[in-house]
Amino acid sequence: MLKLIDHIVRISARRDRTEINTALLDAMLELFGPQSLRIYRCFASGSKVVVFACAGFGAEGSFSHNAYLPERRYCKPIEQDRLLRQAFREGSIAFDIQSDGSNRLIFPVSSMNRIIYLVDIVISETFPADQRVLLMGLIEYFTHHIALLDYGEGDTLTGLANRKTFDKHLFEVLGQAANDEKNTFISGQRRRKGGQDGQHWLAVCDIDHFKRVNDTYGHLIGDEVLVMFARLMSDSFRYDDQLFRFGGEEFIAVLQPASQTSVNAIFERFRQAVEAHVFSRVGHVTVSIGYSQLLPNDTPSDVIDRADEALYFAKRNGRNQSACFENLLAEGKIAPKTSAKGEIELF
Ligand code: GH3
Ligand code: MG
Ligand code: MG
Repeated sequence: MLKLIDHIVRISARRDRTEINTALLDAMLELFGPQSLRIYRCFASGSKVVVFACAGFGAEGSFSHNAYLPERRYCKPIEQDRLLRQAFREGSIAFDIQSDGSNRLIFPVSSMNRIIYLVDIVISETFPADQRVLLMGLIEYFTHHIALLDYGEGDTLTGLANRKTFDKHLFEVLGQAANDEKNTFISGQRRRKGGQDGQHWLAVCDIDHFKRVNDTYGHLIGDEVLVMFARLMSDSFRYDDQLFRFGGEEFIAVLQPASQTSVNAIFERFRQAVEAHVFSRVGHVTVSIGYSQLLPNDTPSDVIDRADEALYFAKRNGRNQSACFENLLAEGKIAPKTSAKGEIELF
């Protein structure tokens, strides 16, 4: 009992998802002695669901990965695992007896009407009923804790991450970018995590003439456009790209490493998806996008300033287009950033 309370206190003291996972892992290892354990984060986009093993324990020992940055090598389509898929589809505990007689249990963890984690535990056949109740109670506690976290980190209208969480997310990504840089240096060659090549990118996406939508159709219909816009965004980007509602009709995408050519295509595809979509009652809406590469020494405002500059170029030049800061600079269409920074430093 005391052990349980001690673990609950440790989990409840944490706000960082990676640390919460580790605290849950410790609790489950000590209280239940499982043969193996996985905490999966679930990412659903369209009909595709990907699970990311962000913490766990098995024959190889314990592991924990940054829960904010799903690394592709630890991710798999949920379709590859029948029991995970069943728990996700049905939204209830899935259970299986393995060939060696051990029990495998999958617990879905929901927040804001979505299943966001799956806890996968394999335990010996002699798992007494009171232990089972304890396990379910612990997972339920974890569910409430995560739901509270999501409530604080999510945008209530669109369900995307909100601005408050942006800095934290970006620092995680910048840390990863710096790490990649270090690995590149150490190994003396281009080496990206999971064999990915290229840089992280940040895009600011701003709906064109959104004020007109509100003025013509009213604020509520405007809100519906924002919800649909966020959905198009989730469907257009990959599960491991981070999406935020940054302000009223301004959204940010932070992309996993990709080459400049593919990133141009990714943003163009999203811009076209918005242009092609028929928004109910409103009809067509367009978006302007400005983007820039994340540099290891960037602060969040450095990279946003560059993306914003590209966005304003797109706005000035007819809207409904995507513009890359680095391309504009190379083409001499905008001035080097140092002068702009100099101006900012005056304030
Ligand atoms: P531009 O193409 O230059 O971006 O023009 P715009 O009209 O989109 O830009 P502007 O920044 O002038 O207007 C943004 C509008 O977004 C103003 C505000 O009424 C609206 N807005 C901001 N937040 C919300 C929201 O939560 N719901 C709704 N419906 N409208 C919002
Ligand atoms: Mg706008
Ligand atoms: Mg705006």
